[in-house]
Amino acid sequence: MSECIFCKIAKKQIPSDIVYEDEDIIAFKDINPGAPVHILIVPKVHISSLNELTDTELAGKMILAAKKVAKMYNINKSGYKLIVNTGEGAGQLVRHIHMHLLGGGDKNKWRIP
Ligand code: 5GP
Ligand code: ZN
Repeated sequence: MSECIFCKIAKKQIPSDIVYEDEDIIAFKDINPGAPVHILIVPKVHISSLNELTDTELAGKMILAAKKVAKMYNINKSGYKLIVNTGEGAGQLVRHIHMHLLGGGDKNKWRIP
């Protein structure tokens, strides 16, 4: 998927503010944040949406990476939200599976992606 923006970010072909990375996952700041902390948790392999995800281990790794990043940003106690938009009707704009991590400040002011 050479034209996929998140594949390009994962391969560091285009810049992003990377906050966490391991063998399978990359996490970077959303370019248009809806909350004081708004990070995208993205598997390095191209999977277009949750509908195409079958790897249970990778699914677990995404959630555990989100938990780590929440701790890094000190929002593990105050609270955070994980969102996986799936398909056009849910507003999934980038067709590479990603998990939004939102947290910090006043949750009533968050723009839910
Ligand atoms: P979706 O609506 O697909 O669930 O969310 C896609 C998210 O990706 C949006 O919140 C949008 O701001 C973010 N995004 C889109 N393009 C880029 C980019 O090139 N870099 C970064 N860091 N975020 C992006
Ligand atoms: Zn991709």
